[in-house]
Amino acid sequence: MDLFEYQARDLFAKHGVPVLAGEVIDTPEAAREVTQRLGGKSVVKAQVKVGGRGKAGGVKVASDEDDAVAKARDILGMDIKGHTVHKVMLAELAPEIAEEYYVSYLLDRTNRTFLAMASVEGGMDIEEVAATKPEALAKIPVDANEGVTPEKAREIVAAAKFPADVADKVAEVLVSLWKTFVAEDALLVEVNPLAKVVDGDVLALDGKVSLDANAEFRQPGHAELEDKAAANPLEAAAKAKGLNYVKLDGEVGIIGNGAGLVMSTLDVVAYAGEKHSGVKPANFLDIGGGASAEVMANGLEIILGDPDVKSVFVNVFGGITACDAVANGIVQALELLESKGEAVTKPLVVRLDGNNAELGRKILDDRNHPLVQRVDTMDGAADKAAELAAAK
Ligand code: GDP
Ligand code: MN
Repeated sequence: MDLFEYQARDLFAKHGVPVLAGEVIDTPEAAREVTQRLGGKSVVKAQVKVGGRGKAGGVKVASDEDDAVAKARDILGMDIKGHTVHKVMLAELAPEIAEEYYVSYLLDRTNRTFLAMASVEGGMDIEEVAATKPEALAKIPVDANEGVTPEKAREIVAAAKFPADVADKVAEVLVSLWKTFVAEDALLVEVNPLAKVVDGDVLALDGKVSLDANAEFRQPGHAELEDKAAANPLEAAAKAKGLNYVKLDGEVGIIGNGAGLVMSTLDVVAYAGEKHSGVKPANFLDIGGGASAEVMANGLEIILGDPDVKSVFVNVFGGITACDAVANGIVQALELLESKGEAVTKPLVVRLDGNNAELGRKILDDRNHPLVQRVDTMDGAADKAAELAAAK
């Protein structure tokens, strides 16, 4: 989960990374009072989860309260690379900036380690520096067990050739930033610019943090960092029901048991769709091993509630959960939805194979639901589901 700058700032502050005061607002008029609190001047910064805000005109210095209101009005509602600005952060104006540096930690999957990156040529052109002058961006592996000790921080400072007058301060920031990275279960923490200001202080003026969703269970505080307004409503509803669901932009709803089977179902449907006006999978949904009637009903409810869905492919390979249980689940799920007044109007193609497949198929045949068709091979069922979606 990527965070907004103001959320990154809060986490930095919590772990001792030096930041300036800041407050987030969503109306221009609110800028007046906040700017007053910040000492009469402020930096007005668009809060969008995309880089390059400065170059896009989303970061502006306000010279007084009126100016802050005007700049907040300019920036709120602005579109930055397809992201609409709904909030701005007003930050205390930094003393004059003498130099801009770059520091970050990230998980380096390729090399199975963590990586520190640092450069004395930070600021808005860091991407270009990385591309055209790779020697100006130091990359130092960080051992997960050792972490960033003061000694390790000095190694990073030396590798990136930070000037002697800021070496100690940058090393301190590197240690605090590592604390942030570990304590918050982050996959990325980045400071750009890490600014040296005229009085000699070193300050994190912009932050980017990405948190590891797999650590949610031990980070109860992170739930409130989620941008609920931006979440897809179907994904939010699925999450509330404990379903493993991802919205995609096709027309064929997919339900399967087991992540691997669902992944390959997406491929098979996309392939079949090429012959049927290019229809594609509408979602990923893994109902897991149990696949009770209730789980099946919850899954169907989410998928049938997606206006993009024109047909549904239920692909089940019976293992520990036998196909007869799944078939009963489908029948009960349809009854459950119909009893809730949610008329099922989209065709379902069901493929059952594996443990007790014969019995499962018989249950579906006996029920003989007008919208349910049974196809016994995965390719055949994918083709039928794609054909039905294309026909709608
Ligand atoms: P980005 O373009 O999305 O990375 O946004 P940043 O927050 O990094 O801001 C872009 C640039 O604005 C920085 O490189 C700084 O030069 C400048 N900037 C950001 N915060 C301040 C501040 O508090 N004071 C001043 N004077 N400039 C700032
Ligand atoms: Mn930046």
